[in-house]
Amino acid sequence: MEKMILASGNKDKLKEIREILKDLPLEIVSMGEEGIDLDIVEDGSTFEENASIKANAVMKITGTPVIADDSGLEIDFFDGAPGIYSARFMGKDTPYPEKIRRILEEMKDVPWEGRGARFVCSVACAFPDERGTITVKETCEGYIATEPAGENGFGYDPVFFYPPAGCTTACLSTDEKNAISHRGKAVRAMYKILKEQYGIVE
Ligand code: IMP
Repeated sequence: MEKMILASGNKDKLKEIREILKDLPLEIVSMGEEGIDLDIVEDGSTFEENASIKANAVMKITGTPVIADDSGLEIDFFDGAPGIYSARFMGKDTPYPEKIRRILEEMKDVPWEGRGARFVCSVACAFPDERGTITVKETCEGYIATEPAGENGFGYDPVFFYPPAGCTTACLSTDEKNAISHRGKAVRAMYKILKEQYGIVE
């Protein structure tokens, strides 16, 4: 079975990606499991570029297929910021409740129509052969809530209101969120492409 390395140290991502790609003849392993410790400079200008940079950086070292993702929150009122800088917004070590407080403060007079936002995720698979690099991008559309709510999830979830659920994504269980999230959708889109490549027919 072909090995595919996830270019991330995040255990939740590993679990989710393994689950979605489980029908493929691929053994998904983490960088840690492969003993790879790499500080990758994400200097792309789009989510797709950054996902591709991460996947290719690891693929060049290992010579095996690598899967990577890059994600963030785009807020219309800030012309799409923080976007690819979501983790680094106000400094990467600033706790999320503080980042959220700043966003809510700056948007305190913005009416609901002006509060549109989306989570974006690009997933890239880099292969060491003629398959090259494949990228997909998906979004999850919503609004910036007027106050934080919910205990689940991470990052900006408490302030991302998802209309079909009538609550923030921090109010959803992991399975509920994976079913509608930018990341879940992007990994499933990648699954479809890989499934065709491996000739798996349902
Ligand atoms: P990365 O793609 O792992 O580098 O994450 C980018 C950043 O985007 C995270 O650190 C969060 O700030 C934000 N982000 C991405 N996806 C989500 C999500 O599902 N919920 C909340 N925040 C997210």
